[in-house]
Amino acid sequence: MNIALIAHDSKKDAMVDLAIAYQHIFRQAKVFATGTTGKRIMDATGLPVHRVQSGPYGGDQQIGAKIAEEQMDLVIFLRDPLTAQPHEPDITALLRLCDVHNIPVATNLATAEILLRALERGDLDWRKAVPGRPADA
Ligand code: PGA
Repeated sequence: MNIALIAHDSKKDAMVDLAIAYQHIFRQAKVFATGTTGKRIMDATGLPVHRVQSGPYGGDQQIGAKIAEEQMDLVIFLRDPLTAQPHEPDITALLRLCDVHNIPVATNLATAEILLRALERGDLDWRKAVPGRPADA
């Protein structure tokens, strides 16, 4: 399973806590992350993380490209809903691609935990056999 982790600045501590709490799950997966989020996770957990650019420098688009190529199985994107982001169009595009390709996506901690527990329970194992397809296909 390929998992993408992205957190805006005010949510990075929460993402690190999530990575620590669920590292037994993340260790079974291939973890991708935007630049700063990935570094924080690696420093805190020692998890191997495939880092792309920082979000404002194109990282969200790189994650989006992996979604478009059916290479992502789960996205946890802890957004800051109270602060305007310079790369808002990229954020919107990434979330849109999750819907286009039917990718489970969490934008807050509560949903993230539910998805991780579902992953642990095997609820997403079908993705191993049937790669995600465009929602309308
Ligand atoms: P960052 O990018 O992990 O490099 O901070 C996240 C974002 O702001 O989209």
